Amino acid sequence: MKTQLLSTTEQDLEKAAELIKSGGLVAIPTETVYGLGANGLNPDAVKKIFEAKGRPQDNPLILHIHDPEQLRDYCREVPEEAWLLAEHFWPGPLTMILPVRDCVPRTTTAGLDTVGMRCPDNAATREIIRLAGVPIAAPSANTSGKPSTTTAAHVLHDMDGKIDAIVDGGPCRVGVESTIVDLTGPVPRLLRPGGIGPELLEELLGALEIDKAVTGEIARDAVVRAPGMKYKHYAPAAEVLIVNGSTEAAARYVRERFQPGDAVLCFAEELECFAGLNPTAYGWESDPASLSAGLFDALRSLDEGKVKRIFARCPTGGGINVATRNRLRKSAGFHIVNAETSDK
Ligand code: AMP
Ligand code: MG
Repeated sequence: MKTQLLSTTEQDLEKAAELIKSGGLVAIPTETVYGLGANGLNPDAVKKIFEAKGRPQDNPLILHIHDPEQLRDYCREVPEEAWLLAEHFWPGPLTMILPVRDCVPRTTTAGLDTVGMRCPDNAATREIIRLAGVPIAAPSANTSGKPSTTTAAHVLHDMDGKIDAIVDGGPCRVGVESTIVDLTGPVPRLLRPGGIGPELLEELLGALEIDKAVTGEIARDAVVRAPGMKYKHYAPAAEVLIVNGSTEAAARYVRERFQPGDAVLCFAEELECFAGLNPTAYGWESDPASLSAGLFDALRSLDEGKVKRIFARCPTGGGINVATRNRLRKSAGFHIVNAETSDK
């Protein structure tokens, strides 16, 4: 299959919508990461998403809508909290889990009777959804298990020849996937941290439970509320080791262990301290949005450089850093050391 590269002109958006309507696969830009989209109401089209990504069948997809009102079309019940969240954060990087209507095939929800709903903050993609006249089911447009794609070039690298088209909307602003909140239980539950920090959700909702999937490692056979969370995720080919502690302690730790083929992934403020240790900065520690925006691109470029092991610096604190930390910990397979307390 020849993968077409489309722009965000009205004519190209119409082409993209036609491809979606006719059961094709189109990579779409969003503010979080690129999505691999198909008609979410067509099980045959949705199946192709799983095939192109090599995604396990029990990992549900998020359904993207162009107008919050469409929640009524695809969800059996829409609680007050959902409208409140939509009003504050949509269009934006927030996915809500709600009871699903029968019109949504179980291929999309991976057999669940709930569905993840999102209205993305990207005008071109909302226009494609509107023109197609169907909700777009879309996971991240990367090969399953690999770092997500935040540019059209990343998508082309993973999906060339496997999908019908890529709509190039430029680099993604947020750079990590949406925050997921489950609204089907008695108390709203954070299943995945993302572009909307947990503090903002808690402030608005009054209460927010944090799922174990957010902080801890989950056994492969565990029954989890966010099914996709049990799989290896966001992992470059290189082994990743997170080195916590002060910059000085971390630089000392890495210097003592550094071998040819190793690299350091750090904050721009630290480049000098890691001089000679093949450092790459993924953003500024003083600018958390730059870290989330740059993480996946940096992991991918280290892979291009055939690096074998990455010593990574991870941000602390709340807001978007919760999401950046979560992705980095997963890419490291929860392999973390504290340079200040670790033995020589
Ligand atoms: P991705 O689009 O690849 O970022 O993955 C979507 C993720 O959303 C899945 O891996 C799940 O963790 C989560 N998700 C989607 N739908 C549901 C649902 N109905 N219930 C719980 N989690 C969901
Ligand atoms: Mg993904």
